[in-house]
Amino acid sequence: MTTAVFPGSFDPLTNGHLDLITRASKIFDHVIVAVGQNTAKRGVFTPAERVAFITTSTQNLANVSVQIESGLTVDFLRDNQATVLIRGLRNSTDFEFEQGIAGMNRSLAPEIETVFLNADPQYQFVSSSLLKEVAQFGGDLSALVPPAVAQGLRDRLERG
Ligand code: ADP
Repeated sequence: MTTAVFPGSFDPLTNGHLDLITRASKIFDHVIVAVGQNTAKRGVFTPAERVAFITTSTQNLANVSVQIESGLTVDFLRDNQATVLIRGLRNSTDFEFEQGIAGMNRSLAPEIETVFLNADPQYQFVSSSLLKEVAQFGGDLSALVPPAVAQGLRDRLERG
């Protein structure tokens, strides 16, 4: 039984994240989506709201669960008997950034393997931060985020 953890901010969940979660759920026995509670970076949505979006959007995936994580990601994996850390790669900037994190995590916890999944080309340009900017000006994001998130963004950010 292999448990994988997919950690991130998910502020909010996008179809790019959801595609990765779906693909990971086919590879691993159990996938835990870990919503990071980063005290330095105040999000648009609270950790509980982000968890709610993910829970609603992954209802059809029986082996996916969602938790809030604080502290070191490798400690969270160990606490949950997980041995695989999943991250997504959209471009070379992600790669450079992720390589550093993976190296550090490997040094902290050599028994944990970081596995990268390539972003689906149709979501390669999708980031939570860009979506929030577009939402502020009323852009239609329904093709890029799950329905619950599209509604949440409208309620939270749209002007006028
Ligand atoms: P973080 O702040 O930890 O980078 P994010 O919520 O931005 O958290 O991203 C979490 C993970 O999802 C990262 O590994 C990121 O590369 C990946 N990711 C983000 N957007 C996409 C996307 N459109 N397609 C595939 N993976 C993505």
